[in-house]
Amino acid sequence: MVYSYTQISQYLRCPRSYRYRYLDGWQEKETRAAMVFGRCFEHALGAYFREEDCGVALFREWKAYREMAFEYKKGETWDRLLHQGIHLLERFARDNRVRIRDPRHELQIKRFRTFAGGSEFVAYLDAIGEVDGMRCVIDWKTTTSRYAEAPEGLLALDPQLICYSWISGIPEVALIVFVRKHAAEVQYLRATISEEQRQEFGRLVEATISQIEAGYFHLHSGIRFPQNGCVSCAHLGLCLHNERLVAASLIRRAGTSDLDWLDELMD
Ligand code: SF4
Repeated sequence: MVYSYTQISQYLRCPRSYRYRYLDGWQEKETRAAMVFGRCFEHALGAYFREEDCGVALFREWKAYREMAFEYKKGETWDRLLHQGIHLLERFARDNRVRIRDPRHELQIKRFRTFAGGSEFVAYLDAIGEVDGMRCVIDWKTTTSRYAEAPEGLLALDPQLICYSWISGIPEVALIVFVRKHAAEVQYLRATISEEQRQEFGRLVEATISQIEAGYFHLHSGIRFPQNGCVSCAHLGLCLHNERLVAASLIRRAGTSDLDWLDELMD
């Protein structure tokens, strides 16, 4: 079996949701414009570091989705997202705080670990480069609201960054957050992950894999206000036996997807 960060975090959030997605094949339909746009934006960043015209690259990628019936948030349109993306790329270029010296080998880097028993954990790091002169693992995010920066040290608790530090062995990590709002803003957030955190994450992955392989898929509903995880869960229709909800948000495909790491680009 091959596992990814998305799989492990989905299992930890709700094992039943994991079973629906990875064993039964119920995948969320790709209807959120912001998620697809995030993927297009990442292509444009790749073009930027290869010293190509990143605005053209963004238009080319995003144009393929112009006629798609996506869900846009209030006030958003295809054009608006494109303009926000262009402004963010301009802002990022002006800031000039991130260096990727070898874009061919330091963007979308595959790393994996093999566990006793043969299971593999695979991660695709967005980039390894320098942020303000510090070499680190970099993760790009596009979002509509700023990431919290306080209290100090909060970012070092981000499980995805801990995962990337664990799999790469690099303690320094950075989130580059592209905030799609009226005035384009890019946040450059850095953290240091300790050896202890990396080891603990490795143990968490191993323990989670053994639970999955032992067939534990109990329901872990989160119906308490205000953090109701079930409301944002794509599999809610299955748990409620509501066919209309299932048809609206899910599509059934056999097996898991090699591309599920792309879910990590979610808004
Ligand atoms: S709706 Fe709630 S209980 Fe059902 S799979 Fe999703 S998170 Fe789990």
